[in-house]
Amino acid sequence: MSINKESFERVKECLHHGQRFVLTTHVNPDGDGLGSEVGLASYLRDLGKDVFILNVSELPDNYDFLNTDGAIKTYNGFIHRETILTADYFLILDISDWNRLRDIGKEIRKTDIPKICIDHHPQSGEFGDVQLINDQASSTGEIIYELIKYCDGKITPTIATALYTSILTDTGSFKFSNTSARVFRIAGDLVECGASSEEIYKLVYERQSTNKVKLFASILNRLRFEENGRVAWFTISKESMHSHGAKLSDTEGFADYPRVISGVEVIVMFSEADKSRTKVSLRSKGNYVVNGVARKFGGGGHQYAAGVLMEGSMHQHVKSILSEVALLLNG
Ligand code: AMP
Ligand code: MN
Ligand code: MN
Repeated sequence: MSINKESFERVKECLHHGQRFVLTTHVNPDGDGLGSEVGLASYLRDLGKDVFILNVSELPDNYDFLNTDGAIKTYNGFIHRETILTADYFLILDISDWNRLRDIGKEIRKTDIPKICIDHHPQSGEFGDVQLINDQASSTGEIIYELIKYCDGKITPTIATALYTSILTDTGSFKFSNTSARVFRIAGDLVECGASSEEIYKLVYERQSTNKVKLFASILNRLRFEENGRVAWFTISKESMHSHGAKLSDTEGFADYPRVISGVEVIVMFSEADKSRTKVSLRSKGNYVVNGVARKFGGGGHQYAAGVLMEGSMHQHVKSILSEVALLLNG
């Protein structure tokens, strides 16, 4: 469902009326959350606004190029209390779930300051005071692009680079089913406005640590299969992350790789967030909708890329998740 004119108009009015904006995105931010923040922040700054980007997680190294002006800050409840309380609007990007906003979500929620949500996740209830939501959009960056265009804004090279990063990462480099003809048109325009497709690809994907790649190699050696090869799954313990000198954020992209295997339909990655919490990532090549499985265990996500953070050790959850996936494939 595309976004109606009234919704764009409402957000446009907020952007023009407000002076101080606090932008944030979900825990463990990805290229879309970060690209959306930087793209929108840059547009607002061009309008003469005061803009603050506060995230609960640290900026992953490979997205440092989005932070040339140092505007992306890691949220600290003491340091940023005043910034939060003096905002005119909160812009919550690429997320519609208070849980995944962690501590900053708790603070924002306590205030009466209006919350604008811009997102492309399927909605499971009301979130925020003003919404710009399209679950057919490839990425939140695509919606920000539409918003800036609606406002007759100029797409500067900085904005183009940020929004191209959003689209590139959330479409799996233009290969997932969310890569519509429109996505290519927008990407083309962003390149015309100054985004370098080659440079951005290199910055995002071709600066990974040897440790990460070695961790990945160890996982490939331990891939498991169920349902006659239609399900591929693997676990990553904290110990193996440590022994390879890698961290949880280094697992980004691992769950996508087994798509290359013929016959695989669904991939499940179990990673140890810490000793008592397990992160489950679900991916589908498009024949099975996997966010229902994630929702069943308290998580969510997109049709073909979903996740959940579960209390308890990894081995506790492997069986129950895989049984649910088997039901999905055989149902
Ligand atoms: P990930 O496997 O972490 O790359 O996440 C894939 C998608 O699943 C994300 O884009 C989110 O939409 C969703 N997701 C991941 N973790 C959670 C969670 N704990 N709760 C709800 N949705 C999640
Ligand atoms: Mn995201
Ligand atoms: Mn996204």
